Amino acid sequence: MKVNWRSIPWAKNSFAALRAACELSDITFNEVDSPENDITCYSLNSVNEPQFRKEITNAECITIVGGPHPSACWREVRKYADYVVIGEGEFTLPALIAMIASGSDALPAGVVSKDQAVMPNHCVFLPSYPPFTKVRGYTEITRGCPFGCGYCQTPHLFGNHMRHRRIDDIERATRVIPDIRFVTPNALAYGSDGIHLRLDKVEKLFRALAGRRIFFGTFPSEVRPECITDASLDLIKTHCVNRKIHFGAQSGSNHVLQMLRRGHTAEDVMQAYATC
Ligand code: SF4
Repeated sequence: MKVNWRSIPWAKNSFAALRAACELSDITFNEVDSPENDITCYSLNSVNEPQFRKEITNAECITIVGGPHPSACWREVRKYADYVVIGEGEFTLPALIAMIASGSDALPAGVVSKDQAVMPNHCVFLPSYPPFTKVRGYTEITRGCPFGCGYCQTPHLFGNHMRHRRIDDIERATRVIPDIRFVTPNALAYGSDGIHLRLDKVEKLFRALAGRRIFFGTFPSEVRPECITDASLDLIKTHCVNRKIHFGAQSGSNHVLQMLRRGHTAEDVMQAYATC
């Protein structure tokens, strides 16, 4: 059975991670520019979803669609896709492909079809999956977020508990990469519960990557403003090459921040700015 991945520039990281996960089940992806037999997989966000809706509707192969938008709006997406993967795909996608290959119609948890819906009942144990293999992506070091900002899909997709990749796995995965950049909801929360920072663990990570070009707290991740302190900035200054840091202010209005359930104030943002 041929399994294809629809090439979408914004979904390169998902491609790298899911390709690596599927390899563990001996499933190989072919990257394609249009849907092809037997199965074509898509990862969509709410910005690009309208662009692919017609293509998926008219596809003459089996279509599997996942990502932030389908996870949130699966009732809408299942009208035009054969299967919708809700939430994390590392375990669910290979299980779904195996189900299709076997001819069964017993959906694995986390999959919705036109007439069945089985909600996710698991979360992925990060150390069980490499962040990427031959197709490189950014190195995801943390998943999940204890905050619940009103506009953000991260806690819905990945849950409220932070899960971290092990330092030796991160070191191994990044050996071949000249510039190391991380995917995480809040880089300075590495090793912690997301609220009580563990800078000792961040430092341990940096020391394991000593001599490498580390970019930390910049694209494709950022940090929360209240995590910016003299101690955290010193750590970055000592071990990393970036001389900028990205933190989300979101609003200068405490009323708006409260409505967004951001969990910090406008004063925290100004304090972070002053500290930088
Ligand atoms: S802190 Fe960041 S990742 Fe967490 S819910 Fe808010 S915006 Fe999303």
